[in-house]
Amino acid sequence: MPQKELDQAVQARVEKWVRSDIQSLKAYQVADASGLIKLDAMENPYTWEEELKQQWLAEMQQQSLNRYPDPSGKSVVAGLKEVFGIDQRYDVLLGNGSDELIQIIIAALAADNLTVLSPEPSFVMYEMIAKFLRVNYVGVPLGNDFTLDLTAMLDAIEAHQPGVVFLAQPNNPTGNLFGEEKVRRIIEASPGLVVVDEAYLAFAESNALTLLADYSNLVVMRTLSKVGLAGLRLGFLVGHPGWINELNKVRLPYNINQLTQVSAQFALLHYNQLAEQITQLVVDRERLFESLQQLEGITVWPSQANFLLFRSLTVPAKALHQALIKEGVLIKCLDGAHPLLTGCLRVTVGAPAENEAFLKVLSALLS
Ligand SMILES: *Cc1c(COP(=O)(O)O)cnc(C)c1O
Repeated sequence: MPQKELDQAVQARVEKWVRSDIQSLKAYQVADASGLIKLDAMENPYTWEEELKQQWLAEMQQQSLNRYPDPSGKSVVAGLKEVFGIDQRYDVLLGNGSDELIQIIIAALAADNLTVLSPEPSFVMYEMIAKFLRVNYVGVPLGNDFTLDLTAMLDAIEAHQPGVVFLAQPNNPTGNLFGEEKVRRIIEASPGLVVVDEAYLAFAESNALTLLADYSNLVVMRTLSKVGLAGLRLGFLVGHPGWINELNKVRLPYNINQLTQVSAQFALLHYNQLAEQITQLVVDRERLFESLQQLEGITVWPSQANFLLFRSLTVPAKALHQALIKEGVLIKCLDGAHPLLTGCLRVTVGAPAENEAFLKVLSALLS
């Protein structure tokens, strides 16, 4: 068949068979960061020190890839329990990033009448994955300064009876914690499962693991991505064995590859080096916050994560975003992503020189 005819035939089949709601979606956009100072994706800017890196490479050298990896990642789970102080009475489910865990949770509960609910703006994958799996999604707007509007949340839970509620603590993209009391009230009011997503826990003063003992409908989700291992793709879900057993049935076999398992075990054995980097990033976050606060034309919100949300009051956010790219700095533009985020941008805390470069360019653009 000539290529042109073949292309048209493919298009016709796609239009007939791919769900129309999928066809009208846009694929998740990841900006091209080549040559730019990359402050858009909440990555840790630091790598391991050379000596540790050599040790890791030596371990890697001993691996072979002809066999499937351990199906449940037992050794990784043991390492996670040790480093993060996870009580033996809870089980841990590993995901290819916590994104995959969100998918597993919704897939296991997906039914015609399932509703997934979360405050918004929050992490976009909750809504996207709900849509992929054809379940209802309800977003409940946050209140003033992105605090959790407890009354609105409780009313929405009452009205929609969600099977899953996602609460990101700290929240992305706003950086704040909703507070334990509100989280408890939501868990208590929820008929179904509540997932507290602690992707940014390392940068915050919080810990939902302590709540597990009080509630039968809570699971806690975490990831190694934001603490310095985004390239590994390892998320984990901690919960009562009853929940984890069921969710595990939906997990695809061997979802955590051999190189990730070995690297994660190694990383957990040497977690102190990541912990030091995190301590530094928290100090630098406060510096960056203070510097942004001093800039004319900017409102910045305090953050308990490794990023800061700010609003541009004079220069339109999209123009500012583009101008920053032109000057070699990539951050995330959130203008248009949600009504509450009008004029907003999000910058990840980088190494001091990167933060300085960002501030220098930004203040030049604002003046
Ligand atoms: C980044 C992020 C995740 C996903 O992280 P993975 O890299 O898939 O582990 C989950 N939740 C929130 C709130 C995030 O910001």
